[in-house]
Amino acid sequence: MRCALRTTSASRLRGFVTDFSLKKQIVKWAKEKADAVRFAGVDRFAGAPANHHPSLICEKAQTVIVLGRAIPRGAFRSPEYCLYVSQRSYHTQYSRLDELALDLANIIESEGYIAVPVPSYAPVVYCAEEPWGILSLKHAAVLAGMGSLARNQLFYHLQYGSRLRLSAVVTNAKLPEDPILEDKCPETCNACLAACPTGAFDSGSFDKAACLRYTIRHAIYPLALCDEKGRKNIETIFNTAGYNAWIKCYECQKVCPRNDSKTAQDLPIRR
Ligand code: SF4
Ligand code: SF4
Repeated sequence: MRCALRTTSASRLRGFVTDFSLKKQIVKWAKEKADAVRFAGVDRFAGAPANHHPSLICEKAQTVIVLGRAIPRGAFRSPEYCLYVSQRSYHTQYSRLDELALDLANIIESEGYIAVPVPSYAPVVYCAEEPWGILSLKHAAVLAGMGSLARNQLFYHLQYGSRLRLSAVVTNAKLPEDPILEDKCPETCNACLAACPTGAFDSGSFDKAACLRYTIRHAIYPLALCDEKGRKNIETIFNTAGYNAWIKCYECQKVCPRNDSKTAQDLPIRR
């Protein structure tokens, strides 16, 4: 249910003045609902790829708010059912994150701004035969100071490792941003690269297509994508019938020491 966070003055210079009070209220609101929330000004997105800039998502965008929710550590460690429980944990958190982003956008709008939710999993836009989010949530999370990109190209949080799922809200409210973190993988670790069954890192950069071909499974794909007509409509298929896909591989995350709560504390990470 939508609720106003506070009573507002009609004379406030919305979008021009940094709204410290609204950020405080959002952080308080998110405390019981999300495992992480961070803020980035749109100036930090100058290097975003064409067509994936926050200003194309929200009119006069000023701030990107990133929300994170974790899946349990035990899911990756499940001796027999990692794929099963991780997959359901991911998709359950995706749904919750979508709701959170939607609720937060409505709350911000009740304060007189405009806001657009960026869902966690779909919609995707196909670029050169690869699915891209309308906004790269992992890059947004890095720019908002929530964590860093690791050697395996996944987003890592200091406490939750790669177990955070993400959504976001883009708004024309100018909110104070959080400092960017500079944590990174240990120089000598390449456990994720060695564990990858597809050799997705063998060329020295990440072969996203190789990873996706191996990991993403959905009952509809063999039927819908069996001819040229289907493949031309892959974006529609993914964004509608292809939702809730099975994720077949977590090897690079299972072997990662940054997903181990004990060893994570020993890593050379600046907190
Ligand atoms: S998810 Fe699997 S295939 Fe993809 S990069 Fe990680 S280990 Fe390789
Ligand atoms: S296994 Fe983890 S810590 Fe090691 S390089 Fe890969 S992402 Fe970094």
